[in-house]
Amino acid sequence: MICDICGTEGVKIRTISRAYGQGKDLLIVENIPMVSCPHCGESYLSAQTLHKIEEIKRNRHSWAIERPVEVASFA
Ligand SMILES: [Zn+2]
Repeated sequence: MICDICGTEGVKIRTISRAYGQGKDLLIVENIPMVSCPHCGESYLSAQTLHKIEEIKRNRHSWAIERPVEVASFA
């Protein structure tokens, strides 16, 4: 893969998690591929990735998986 910023080959992809929104609108998107370039030192999300994130945010109810939350009863 070629770096969008400096055009050098050899970028690395690492996956990150990002949180969007707050409170009950909080949405955590995991496994977002972030491009990181060892040549120019830039880390960025590709246009395609940003587009996909927008789509996930718009359709969050069909994308999101409800995870079980542990509930402890005190009494
Ligand atoms: Zn670069």
